[in-house]
Amino acid sequence: MRFSSAILVVALVGCLPFATVQAAKPVEPKPAALKPAELCERLIPRMPTVTQSMCVESGFVASGRQSLQGFPLISKDVHAAGKKRKQRPLRVLMMGGIHGDELTSAAIVYRWLEEGMTGPIAQSIEWRIMPVVNPDGLLAKKASRVNANGVDLNRNFPTPGWESEAPAYWKTRTRADPRRFPGNAPLSEPESRWVEDEMRAFKPDVIISIHAPYGVLDFDGPAQPPRKFGRLLLNRVGIYPGSLGNYSGVHKNVPVITIELPNAQKMPPRAEVRRIWVDMLRWINENVERQDAPAARTVDAAGKAAVR
Ligand SMILES: [Zn+2]
Repeated sequence: MRFSSAILVVALVGCLPFATVQAAKPVEPKPAALKPAELCERLIPRMPTVTQSMCVESGFVASGRQSLQGFPLISKDVHAAGKKRKQRPLRVLMMGGIHGDELTSAAIVYRWLEEGMTGPIAQSIEWRIMPVVNPDGLLAKKASRVNANGVDLNRNFPTPGWESEAPAYWKTRTRADPRRFPGNAPLSEPESRWVEDEMRAFKPDVIISIHAPYGVLDFDGPAQPPRKFGRLLLNRVGIYPGSLGNYSGVHKNVPVITIELPNAQKMPPRAEVRRIWVDMLRWINENVERQDAPAARTVDAAGKAAVR
């Protein structure tokens, strides 16, 4: 009896490492290997009013870059229609979901793509679109503003003086609010590095950054600020160390429109979704200068002085 028990124990122990290895093998594919439809299945429960088919048809693909937890950072380019033109098309970089708990800020990008890309202004533009900049925050058990490192990505951009200003601002002005932690260094996070790399590569003439829930428009940089998109009125919410508006709009002279939707969970009515889009396109068409145009310099200088 004793002998056979010993054999049993040896046999069981011998099996254990094997059993452990078996159990540790992931049943689901790693996020980086997911197909677009599978990515959509993960994303759409967090995107109000976006359906699986709308998500798949939007055509976003893995950019090759990943979030801290290995979720693909997705994007797509929409090229300007037609070839005969006097000057190059305007380049617009649009991003949503940089704060993971602002669900509508990611979802509205899909809605605009579904409904808004057919008009002449939209088709005259060269687009780079990044709908979910902070997928780890969006997909966290409880959606979170910050990324998986607890960093507010919109305070992690390398504004001049970041090292002294961003941590000090965080400690004193936000009283070390964990939702606004700027990180330990500028561009410390894979998601903010991705955005910065895309800005360098794509060289946008204007950036659209979508947030919620303040229900206003904000604007940084050269050009005449927009007054109203749909029901959203211009109301400058402030300039922060490490924010995208500050980094791009103020320091790089590439204007940033910040759209603050009125609710982080509930999408505006369809007509309002469309109005914001139409008003925004019109403003871009009438006000944005090409960054390499000779006239842009004058506008830059004036805009810069006004903003600072
Ligand atoms: Zn936000």
